[in-house]
Amino acid sequence: MNPELAPLLVASHKTDFEVYHGRLYIDGQWREAGGGERVERLSPAHGELVSTYAVATPEDVDAAIDAAHRAFHHGPWPKMKGAERARVLLAIADGIQAQIERLALIESLENGKPLTQARAEVAGCADLWQYAASLARTTSGDAYNTLGEDMLGLVLRQPIGVVGIITPWNFPLWILCQKLPFAMAAGCTCVIKPSELTSGTTVMLMEILEKAGVPAGVANVVTGKGSRVGQPLAESPRVDMLSFTGSTHVGSMLAGVASKKLKKVALELGGKNPQIVFPDCDWDAMVDAVVFGVYFNAGECCNSGSRVLVHESIVERFAAAVIERAREVPVGDPLHPDAKVGAIVSEQQMNDILGHIETGVSAGAKVRLGGGRYASANGLYLQPTVLTDVTADMGVAREEIFGPVLSVIAFRDLDHAIEIANDTAYGLSAAVWSSDIDTCLKVARGVDAGTIWVNTFLDGYPELPFGGFKASGVGRELGKQAVEDYTETKTIQLHIGERKNLWLPAKK
Ligand code: NAD
Repeated sequence: MNPELAPLLVASHKTDFEVYHGRLYIDGQWREAGGGERVERLSPAHGELVSTYAVATPEDVDAAIDAAHRAFHHGPWPKMKGAERARVLLAIADGIQAQIERLALIESLENGKPLTQARAEVAGCADLWQYAASLARTTSGDAYNTLGEDMLGLVLRQPIGVVGIITPWNFPLWILCQKLPFAMAAGCTCVIKPSELTSGTTVMLMEILEKAGVPAGVANVVTGKGSRVGQPLAESPRVDMLSFTGSTHVGSMLAGVASKKLKKVALELGGKNPQIVFPDCDWDAMVDAVVFGVYFNAGECCNSGSRVLVHESIVERFAAAVIERAREVPVGDPLHPDAKVGAIVSEQQMNDILGHIETGVSAGAKVRLGGGRYASANGLYLQPTVLTDVTADMGVAREEIFGPVLSVIAFRDLDHAIEIANDTAYGLSAAVWSSDIDTCLKVARGVDAGTIWVNTFLDGYPELPFGGFKASGVGRELGKQAVEDYTETKTIQLHIGERKNLWLPAKK
């Protein structure tokens, strides 16, 4: 039986949102695209026009790379004191805080995520700039005074150069703020390509940077489609590093392109993150975290807890409890104050998710909750879905669905749980639920993932590194090394005193 879901929330009020027209931001100037073309973004929740963006031409992308190159090689930014850069980054944090409402509203309208959630994300972005400001002052190299009395070794960290930043649509501002502040803290200059579906907050952020006094050319934004606007960043020999967040498919393709230029690449990619549930866990906390983990951001989340591995002795009890809670998840208009799940970002994404569910069902999975669109809705709303009887070999157990779909898989014992957890191409994150510390530690050590949550899920802190094993990515963001990732290491060997050990005998 497929239990009834809570009715879709409908917002009673209309917002007084004005359509936003974003331009390119190149060399400190706001410009229309060379070809004069614009693309429209309609809200996936209402089908209404939210924004239009200039579609950058290859010449526009070139101009942005030129500007960043000039700003890096001839501008003041890389040479400024860390303390000076930190002051600018803090001013940007203040600017974000002053515009939480404006940024959150466009993020919510373009992406479909609840406005309440978007507000919290924007506030978190300000915190990322503050953290980067602290690193701008404290990131340092190293010195070796242990190499003998005639040698002092210095290890310098210098900014790597021009960074190409390409971001996805699911957390547009947040993901940009996991990259840009740290690249800027290092002294780099950047060319940013946001997703064509959610460019609003990226373009608006440039207004904030401008006001905060960021010199021309340090951050440039080119909007438009990936293959036309993003790819040149991977290809250009004048872009020294590519920092990409998005799908594993596009990420690996871009890494291939970038490797031909021997360019440094940082990749944050997909995930199929297991929550592993043992019978001795705190039951209510676990059930809540499972529901939160898979339906947060409508499951359009690289960290989505999209598969739950449950000990075989409690599978039915688990399914009943999760279904009971999931059917009450408030889904609906992102502008409704009670909405916890909003709209799916696009028709294409909706169809992809439905396709995954269909494939799962043909392979033998059972839809125990949801499984389809809300019939009555104008917008793109998908029912919270629970699939049981999933086995580890099915597509719904292995592939990233990127939607509100939970796959429940049974395991026999701890080793079997770890084996299933590791049996996908991904390794972004995982969670373990148990009151036994040995169980938790064995799972935490055994599962190949960049983040392991123990009796919790989806917490995150700028202080802690984030990134994936295997097909989930290359490199880490955040943490105290976040700025170092945007630097090159230079070794300086300083000889002290007379150089005595000559290679050829000294001339008499
Ligand atoms: P996507 O890979 O389709 O697009 C990401 C970005 O790449 C967009 O800006 C897009 O325009 C651009 N792009 C697409 N084709 C390109 C090309 N040929 N050359 C250059 N750029 C190109 O991903 P998406 O659909 O926007 O986002 C969803 C994916 O992102 C999911 O797989 C998700 O797991 C992943 N993601 C990962 C993380 C993480 O931190 N690990 C975070 C968020 C999202």
